[in-house]
Amino acid sequence: MEAAPTETPPAEQDASEATDRAPALPPLRIGIGYDVHRLVPDRPLILGGVRIPHTQGLAGHSDADVLVHAIIDALLGAAALPDIGRQFPADDPQYAGANSLQLLDNVLKLLTERQWRIVNVDSTVLAQGPKLASFIPAMQAAIARTLGIEAMNIGIKATTTEGLDAIGAGRGIAAHAVALLMHDPSLQDCACIPPR
Ligand SMILES: [Zn+2]
Repeated sequence: MEAAPTETPPAEQDASEATDRAPALPPLRIGIGYDVHRLVPDRPLILGGVRIPHTQGLAGHSDADVLVHAIIDALLGAAALPDIGRQFPADDPQYAGANSLQLLDNVLKLLTERQWRIVNVDSTVLAQGPKLASFIPAMQAAIARTLGIEAMNIGIKATTTEGLDAIGAGRGIAAHAVALLMHDPSLQDCACIPPR
């Protein structure tokens, strides 16, 4: 069958137009984060912005919220920004005892300035104890409120390591997180971002 004469195919039109512009950013970006803190006596246990009754808490310069720290690194990584240790140095007195949800709010501002919208976050907390399941809805709500997205877009799972390692021996708690960002040029008009 003979092809009918056509105008330039759409794909070629798109390619020729693209050469006239700066290279387009990929609209979606994924990031990964990991953190671990030691469990010690005489510290409150804060996970996902929620204080959890326990005989020990996590050691750290800030409130040592290992879950929020992993999420922060996943968000920063998706935007290819410097990691949490470089954004909020552990030897900087202004972050002593810092509420990690406040640090997360600072990260949201960094992302919004760069026109990155958070699509979703997923995470896993590794802890031999205490049991965390009943606290997960409150953690989801606290993180979602800070990030300005629905709680249904914040995944949090909790698991043990079956007693197989230092986490399993109860010496610390770790967390993994991933985050997906979407480039959204409309965010440049956001009045909530202070001028730089
Ligand atoms: Zn940390």
